[in-house]
Amino acid sequence: MASSYGYPFKQQHCLSISQFSRPDIETLLSLGEHYLDLDVQKSPDRTILAGKTLVNLFFENSTRTQKSFEIAGRRLGADVINMSVAGSSVKKGETLLDTAATLNAMNPDILVVRHNASGAPALLAQKLSGSVVNAGDGMHEHPTQALLDALTLRRVFGEDLGGLRIAICGDITHSRVARSNVQLLNMLGCEVRLVGPPTLIPSDADRWGVDVFHDMETGLEGCDVVMMLRLQLERMSGAFVPSKREYFHFYGLDRAKLTYAKDGAKVMHPGPMNRGVEISSDVADDPHLSLITQQVESGVAIRMGILHALSDARDDIA
Ligand code: ASP
Repeated sequence: MASSYGYPFKQQHCLSISQFSRPDIETLLSLGEHYLDLDVQKSPDRTILAGKTLVNLFFENSTRTQKSFEIAGRRLGADVINMSVAGSSVKKGETLLDTAATLNAMNPDILVVRHNASGAPALLAQKLSGSVVNAGDGMHEHPTQALLDALTLRRVFGEDLGGLRIAICGDITHSRVARSNVQLLNMLGCEVRLVGPPTLIPSDADRWGVDVFHDMETGLEGCDVVMMLRLQLERMSGAFVPSKREYFHFYGLDRAKLTYAKDGAKVMHPGPMNRGVEISSDVADDPHLSLITQQVESGVAIRMGILHALSDARDDIA
């Protein structure tokens, strides 16, 4: 059976950018655009996931991602259950596989999972009969963040992102956002740069299809977009930067450093931001420069698109 939007999207899960073909990605972005264009608050299509259950299982803290999956699921008519790990059996020592078996017995249609271990969502996908969406696994991937970033860019630069020069700056080593974005932006034909201190750039980055820079002045030259990342202290063992103050001096984005990029360059950040560490407030809050609020809006829309496509794919094999 054809999907409700024409393209035969066959993916059962959303685990990593690399699993998707270019037409899959175009379909997800088009669906995201559709939901951005719809006034979803006032006219949600609550039939798409009617009768389906979406479980949000977050082993790590989250504000944007968890809430946006919840809103996206509800707007499409799903029953949404938020499982708090703090109050669950996980805190009593239950293993991930036992949690998976318990969840499977409850038959959720979609499980959205965030875990501090890379690969945890992929493991759950093997054990569960429903679809699994990776909402961030360790330092590995955050595919829905990369998709919402691409959707945000399409709203500003048009459908074809080919040739855009994009600098991803800061703590690349510990960033799943960077890993997913590099793959997706490369697939869409962007010129991707990584900018950061040598201690925060992975040693294999030269094989990622990017150019690596260690100073903001040369790294940002000619860039259309500057994507800033947080110092992910929770994933660092030991000191990777001398001090936050010194880090801001060399790598924090302020108006002065932004002049190294193209005139009119746009600024992105996946959140949560550490103001005064990787980005100054006047840049983050300037609506002429910053796409940060649009990123959050795109987050709900792209997650509606992803849930829609996964649900159609599952209905097709049922
Ligand atoms: N929210 C993003 C993530 O979960 C970025 C961050 O935490 O810095 O990876």
